[in-house]
Amino acid sequence: MQSANDLKQLLFGINHKSYPAYKSTRGAYQFPRYTLSIDHVQGDPFAAPSRVSVHINGKTAAFPTSLYDTYEKRVALQDYLLRQFARAIAPYSFRAKGSGKSGLLGVSRCGQEILERTACVLNPSDGSLIVNMEIGFPANGRTIASQELIRILFDFLPGCVEKSLLYRSLDPKACAGVARLCEDQQAIRAALKEKGLTAFIADGSILPRETGVSDLPMKHAVPFVSPESLRVTLDLPNRGSISGMGIPLGVTLIVGGGFHGKSTLLQALERGVYNHIAGDGREYVITDASAVKLRSEDSRSISNVDISLFIHDLPGKSDTTSFSTADASGSTSQAANVIEGIEAGTSLFLIDEDTSATNFMVRDAFMQRVISRSKEPITPFVERARQLYEQAGISTILVAGSSGAFFHIADTVIQMDSYRPFDITEKVKELCPEYPDAAGMPPVFQLPQSRRIMSVPKELQRERQRRPLKVKVHGIDSFSIGKETVDLRYVEQLEDGEQTASLGRLLEYALEYLTDGKRTIPQIVSLLEEKLEAERERTRRMKEYEE
Ligand code: ADP
Ligand code: MG
Repeated sequence: MQSANDLKQLLFGINHKSYPAYKSTRGAYQFPRYTLSIDHVQGDPFAAPSRVSVHINGKTAAFPTSLYDTYEKRVALQDYLLRQFARAIAPYSFRAKGSGKSGLLGVSRCGQEILERTACVLNPSDGSLIVNMEIGFPANGRTIASQELIRILFDFLPGCVEKSLLYRSLDPKACAGVARLCEDQQAIRAALKEKGLTAFIADGSILPRETGVSDLPMKHAVPFVSPESLRVTLDLPNRGSISGMGIPLGVTLIVGGGFHGKSTLLQALERGVYNHIAGDGREYVITDASAVKLRSEDSRSISNVDISLFIHDLPGKSDTTSFSTADASGSTSQAANVIEGIEAGTSLFLIDEDTSATNFMVRDAFMQRVISRSKEPITPFVERARQLYEQAGISTILVAGSSGAFFHIADTVIQMDSYRPFDITEKVKELCPEYPDAAGMPPVFQLPQSRRIMSVPKELQRERQRRPLKVKVHGIDSFSIGKETVDLRYVEQLEDGEQTASLGRLLEYALEYLTDGKRTIPQIVSLLEEKLEAERERTRRMKEYEE
């Protein structure tokens, strides 16, 4: 391997040359504490910055194995190190000068959730660490300013690595805290299963966020307090005893007046599929990891979904056991979202009435009298929710502000009053007889068998013959493959553009290698999961860089 000094000489040699001469820097160089690898060099100073990685061997990084001896703890440690590194490089970004992106230092930006990212990977077999970053290689116009890159690589970066990625420079208490929190969060996840709960919200949690655009905790918020009847106490390995509201399996209704905190509670539950960092306020808000937020999605496209559980006998006789449309209505879109959720293996739906199609959710008594069942293609969700739980083991947590129809089918009713939950199940059950259940017998409940074969859309097949399909990512909103756009704005549990990017790449891979005209979508998803696991295994086996 070349030395750091070789790199310096090379950089001196190409100063003032034209930009493409930077390409010659590709390769790995040994620095005192790490190997610097220049993996991809940008084409000009205005293009996407160059990709550089820092490889630290296990002896130098020296993290105690107790910090990463489970998958979840490793992800939490990686996340923590990435945040430390991001903080360390931030003051140096654009310190080196030049045109366009010259001098940019960047790394994945982490939000409040702890996610596995390729930006920082710790190899559990030897403790070595790889951090991937972006550097804008400096130039004036298209003329290389390599003395500026020398400042970045030789003056700025070594100190950043030293202070943020080596165990001996980090606060050992803080590192241990990351692992301890993770252990406690995993213990809550395990307790949900043991105790028959779909979610847990610890007393004292801060659920609301600072603003609509900031995911930080709201200052001076009213802390969460569980109603006595729903309070469970868990014994966590590190924190010890913790109490909070346990939401039982079954159908749970969250009701209350407007602005009393219903949606805020539901949003916290949506995000509870992820673990959160310390200080977030939702560290101990843990939801069944398979939970799917369900909503209507007007004008989405649907392909071959069996929505007959909810919609049948459409006028014009279009087949709803294999329903396709390029432009779904509110109700058909929500029906398809339920079925796709079931196909994905969820055991918990999260629904907010505010973002649901009313005619999909309920049909009141008067309407049932006027329009007979035989003239109504929709079996509303209120008639299916109990069956979904009793016959398919899928729970529902539903926020309802205006319709009382769900009271009859709820196992648990929580009222939010000035941001405080109250268990009003008993009271509601007493009132139920006064408001008879309007629902009659719904048509037979039969879970659709997913036999959806995944195929490459015709347009993409044609496009692919001309050139390889390109994936483009647009934040958390969408990605495109070739000329097809996949709109993800209403997949509300996506939190980070890198998740969207991963989904885009996975779909690209599936279209390229896994679709064979026979495999179903769930089969392809399992193959993708196996592939991801195999990639992780490959990284584990990769020999660490030699000193
Ligand atoms: P709902 O869905 O019941 O109409 P929201 O959940 O939208 O109510 O909450 C209404 C407002 O109250 C929001 O601006 C939210 O940020 C704020 N809020 C929610 N929970 C709390 C809390 N625990 N403390 C302070 N403010 C809160
Ligand atoms: Mg609301």
